[in-house]
Amino acid sequence: MALFDKLSDLANAAKDKATEAVNMGKAGVKISGEKNALEDALQNLGQYYYEKYKAGEITDEAAIAICLQIDEKNASIAALEAEMQGAKANFTAPMNKDKEDDAPAAEGGTKFCTECGAKIPAATKFCPECGAKVG
Ligand SMILES: [Zn+2]
Repeated sequence: MALFDKLSDLANAAKDKATEAVNMGKAGVKISGEKNALEDALQNLGQYYYEKYKAGEITDEAAIAICLQIDEKNASIAALEAEMQGAKANFTAPMNKDKEDDAPAAEGGTKFCTECGAKIPAATKFCPECGAKVG
């Protein structure tokens, strides 16, 4: 029965290890949950202090230095966002302009001058390029 006992021990050891692993996994999840909560609390503390700084209630130089960094980052982010908005406006503006340019042509249609071949609005009676009567 020695072999059986040994196998039984191994099985129990494996079971213990598995249980341990599950517990470790649970502990790991708990730890990361606690770490997230800790980070949130620290962020809240920072926010709380930053608001006090904004209200002029902070005299601690080290805290003010950090708050100045936050101000700097906020300003930098605002500038970058404004730049991005500007880039967006520049990107969409030409597209809108194209639409405006196309709209009258689509409404009235276009034709080609019989004299010079210029593309001209269909409603035009005289070619703006060569002056030929095209109406
Ligand atoms: Zn013409």
